[in-house]
Amino acid sequence: MTDITVTNWAGNITYTAKELLRPRSADALRALVAGSSRVRVLGSGHSFNEIAEPGPEGVLLSLAALPPEVDVDTAARTVRVGGGVRYAELARLVHARGLALPNMSSLPHISVAGSVATGTHGSGVGNGPLSSSVREVELVTADGSTTVIARGEERFGGAVTSLGALGVVTALTLDLEPAYEVEQHVFTELPLSGLDTETFDAVMSAAHSVSLFTDWREPGFRQVWLKRRTDQPLPGFPYAAPATEKMHPVPGMPAVNCTEQFGVPGPWHQRLPHFRADFVPSSGAELQSEYLMPRGHALDALRALDAIRGMVAPVLQTCEVRTVAADEQWLSPAYGRDTVAVHFTWVEDTAAVLPVVRRVEEALDAFDARPHWGKVFTTPAAVLRGYYPRLGDFGALVGALDPRGKFTNAFVRGVLAG
Ligand SMILES: Cc1cc2nc3c(=O)[nH]c(=O)nc-3n(C[C@H](O)[C@H](O)[C@H](O)COP(=O)(O)OP(=O)(O)OC[C@H]3O[C@@H](n4cnc5c(N)ncnc54)[C@H](O)[C@@H]3O)c2cc1C
Repeated sequence: MTDITVTNWAGNITYTAKELLRPRSADALRALVAGSSRVRVLGSGHSFNEIAEPGPEGVLLSLAALPPEVDVDTAARTVRVGGGVRYAELARLVHARGLALPNMSSLPHISVAGSVATGTHGSGVGNGPLSSSVREVELVTADGSTTVIARGEERFGGAVTSLGALGVVTALTLDLEPAYEVEQHVFTELPLSGLDTETFDAVMSAAHSVSLFTDWREPGFRQVWLKRRTDQPLPGFPYAAPATEKMHPVPGMPAVNCTEQFGVPGPWHQRLPHFRADFVPSSGAELQSEYLMPRGHALDALRALDAIRGMVAPVLQTCEVRTVAADEQWLSPAYGRDTVAVHFTWVEDTAAVLPVVRRVEEALDAFDARPHWGKVFTTPAAVLRGYYPRLGDFGALVGALDPRGKFTNAFVRGVLAG
């Protein structure tokens, strides 16, 4: 690096790239791409593995110094958003125009382009990953020229959840809908023994977005978070007791950093994330992993984790269970299947966490558990390749747009090889 050591948000990855470059204009960006032999974009750096690492011969490109484009078309109900913009800023401006996104992830501080590149999702049986809002991708490809790929084109299936391997995403166009309000209700103590397939589905379908949290010290969920759109019916929730105080998903952490609870209605973007946009965590004392499986396997997968909870609990801060509707991005962990996603926020000790990650992967092996692209996993590349039936098509798209592999790094090579 020329100036400073650059790490990811969690600090568990130090990038070895020879330079971190921050172009200030689209022309400068195009010239940098054309003149470099190996490039990766660093989004907001919230991934927990080496997905953004270009290697010591490569250049890391940040779009943070480009003008932050957010261009809302109220008539068309779309927004064109620049490649470096984060959800918090996008959501604020979209809401100001009376419009909304269908869903958000737990943290609003992550970049839009980086999120959709890795299949980032929120929760909800009817909500696809965040990538499902994307209708158009604008890319600066290896020779510095600009390419637009739109929904409806065959290659669009590989263009959004692309692991950053196609080029620099300079803009995305997203579908919007009319703004809506959400109220958040937290419940406590939902025992695993009380769940069968029917009740699990009923719990996860009880609101627009539902999350279950456990620390695996007990066989069940300490918290259930329901995010109800106020334009949808108010469900009864007989499965757990309403919380009597404001909660944080990690036991012992201050709930003041979390979005409003106790059913106080508020704008969608101030309720769908778990964490408040005006609380900016500069770095996180945590690692994360997540596995996405067909929803029909949910209970068997949770029971398999319950069987190893004695090993999991000591290195765990919290485990969150969410649902994601099937989507059509070839490399989406929710590709082609309605999904249950089991997420782990670990302590920040890589050496202690990795053996447990391996054990979790063994426990979930029978359930076709696709790891989140942006989190810690040890699933062998050969196994990963078996999970993605359109991987060959993705490889062909990479070859067509970037024949010399300018945007391919060790992470992407691992996924594509074979
Ligand atoms: C506290 C926290 C909470 C999280 N919550 C959730 C959650 O609720 N749901 C979930 O699914 N995930 C969640 N994540 C994971 C996170 O959403 C992903 O790691 C996501 O990729 C982060 O986006 P980023 O911009 O920080 O990505 P980075 O780590 O910077 O980059 C990720 C990938 O995107 C590429 N990329 C980024 N920008 C561009 C661009 N403009 N052009 C081309 N390629 C680009 C990078 O090269 C890299 O390959 C969370 C992470 C943290 C730290």
